[in-house]
Amino acid sequence: MKIGFPNHPRKDILEEIEWIGKNGFDFIDFFLEEDKAVPEKIDIEKAKTLLKKYGLATVGHTAWYLPIGSPIKSIRNAAVAEAAKYFAVFGRLGVKFVTIHSNWLSGMFSSEEGVKFQVESLRKLVEEAKKYNIGVMYEPVDTPSDNVENVSAILDKVPGLFLHLDIGHANLFGKRPEDFIRKFHKRLKHVHLHDNDTYQDLHLPLGCGSTDWEKTIAVLKKYYNGTITLEVFSRDKDYVLLSKEKLRKLWNKI
Ligand SMILES: [Zn+2]
Repeated sequence: MKIGFPNHPRKDILEEIEWIGKNGFDFIDFFLEEDKAVPEKIDIEKAKTLLKKYGLATVGHTAWYLPIGSPIKSIRNAAVAEAAKYFAVFGRLGVKFVTIHSNWLSGMFSSEEGVKFQVESLRKLVEEAKKYNIGVMYEPVDTPSDNVENVSAILDKVPGLFLHLDIGHANLFGKRPEDFIRKFHKRLKHVHLHDNDTYQDLHLPLGCGSTDWEKTIAVLKKYYNGTITLEVFSRDKDYVLLSKEKLRKLWNKI
């Protein structure tokens, strides 16, 4: 199992890589988003030098607000074209797997329509990413629509798409992370970890919310031994490092 941390996309990306490298993470989860981590502002050669200096591996992550499920076709197409620009940069950074987030509509659109719009975009994205030898991972976000049934419908309709399971998101609104792990482990390629109170997507340090980590890690470890990003968004990063120690200890104990 490998533990990583993301750069903050609104901070200097090179300083962010330095912090992640110096603090002993195995990889960086590249959050390439507005406004400082966009293709035209990234010094790829300097970033690669730092990755090498610290022996950091990489995974990639596009903006969570890309409208791949918009009911407006031209907006979906624009989302795909925007993501493709990022795939080119990820390819140059040596990234092999990139996250695209779910994008559900609410109100007058049904789940079936939400599936249809996203499937159309995701099929194009999987093809586009192949040009750079990149696999696409689908990350369900923090809405009630991101349930086992809907995720299953998406994965069934997009061959070659992998699952990125965000365990914090899978812990909201009565959902259970273990249900996702058991059902989708064969497509599971990456994991995000953070804690919450089961009502709000709080991105807390491990143990600060109500997740039963012993139980959750035990199920995860049974099926998975890959990359885990600590998506802990505390202002004081000591809590990130504490979460890293806790995760490593728990993983080794179970
Ligand atoms: Zn996440």
